[in-house]
Amino acid sequence: MTIIDSSNISLNRSLSKLDNKLSQALNQRKQQHRYRSRRITSSPQGVECIVDGKAVISFCSNDYLGFANHPKVREAAESGLKKYGVGSGAAHLINGHTEAHHLLEEELAGFTGYPRTLLFSTGYMANIGLCQALLDNNGFVFEDKLNHASLIDGGLISGARFQRYLHNDIDSLVKKLSRTDNDAMKLVLSDAVFSMDGDIADAPALAAVCKQHDSVLMLDDAHGFGVLGQDGKGTLQHFDMSLDDVPVYMATLGKAMGTAGAFIAGSEALIETLIQQARSYIYTTAMPAAIAEATRASLRLLQDEPEHRSQLEGNIGYFRQCCEQNATPVQHSETAIQPVIIGEDASALALSNKLFDAGILVTAIRPPTVPEGTSRLRITLCATHTREHIDKLVDAIQDHNPN
Ligand code: PMP
Repeated sequence: MTIIDSSNISLNRSLSKLDNKLSQALNQRKQQHRYRSRRITSSPQGVECIVDGKAVISFCSNDYLGFANHPKVREAAESGLKKYGVGSGAAHLINGHTEAHHLLEEELAGFTGYPRTLLFSTGYMANIGLCQALLDNNGFVFEDKLNHASLIDGGLISGARFQRYLHNDIDSLVKKLSRTDNDAMKLVLSDAVFSMDGDIADAPALAAVCKQHDSVLMLDDAHGFGVLGQDGKGTLQHFDMSLDDVPVYMATLGKAMGTAGAFIAGSEALIETLIQQARSYIYTTAMPAAIAEATRASLRLLQDEPEHRSQLEGNIGYFRQCCEQNATPVQHSETAIQPVIIGEDASALALSNKLFDAGILVTAIRPPTVPEGTSRLRITLCATHTREHIDKLVDAIQDHNPN
């Protein structure tokens, strides 16, 4: 005899109702050429890799210096695994904070010139935690229109009054700052290198207006740390600035450092405040200690082997020179991020697919990640690309670009 479980039937009905609703939205997304899908990599990270079973040259990784699979970084991760095991077991404030994490924080402070730093498991969490810890609904947050999603989300989640100023437009920021009550906490947040355009924020001007308007400047240097400045110290070194100009500095470790995670640098009081109050720091498992050991090796490599940075610089110059010769329109960017704007979502997607067929991996970036009508190939250059790789890319873009 079959017993019909009526609770199961109603559960299935509401499930299918949910699925119908979701499928409609997904189909709409497909029609708009906004559907996102993942390719599967089956080789180590690198400029030559295997993606969806095919050997390709990658031009979309943030592994700018080629450290993600560097033998010295791998070795450090392996010895970290032997010493600490895989998982860190708990949050930093329970018992997940190892000697490896602590030494890395001290070394990052020494390298950046800030009194202290604090590790977070991801850059996204660092930005969310920072905003939530420093702001409440009496505060104000000002953000560049093209800031990374994690800064935007942090500002929104903080409950502070949220305003966006025009991209890299200091006058637009000043107008908003001047309309704001002076006693309140005012935090100005900006990408130091804009993640989808590669241009550099006018950090000295931002610092000057923040001082004039009694506001705190925070820079997210995810794409400048390890790359910009005479010693790879990032955007602050590029502009010869210090803690006095940028009281809150953040950088990620999953890009030029080739590992994972992020850190915030600042004063003793800032770091202690984050430890007490940043929820994305307190309520999460610490990054594996082996990753901290690998990052310590990356930081040593950055200082001991400046050739990685000069190779990257040479590749950026060579790419721009080839594009100029081929009349391929590139943006005003002196960093490793070199977008080629296509415009329509469908055209950017079609071009990315054609390049993939030709053995070149560059993802199409579409709204809402970038503004409407500016879908693009976000090309990133790495120290490990050869001139032949770059020639192939530029020729393939010229063969297939609809513009
Ligand atoms: N800030 C910026 C400017 C970024 O580009 C990114 C990553 N794309 C992040 C923050 C987030 O870092 P993570 O990937 O470590 O979460």
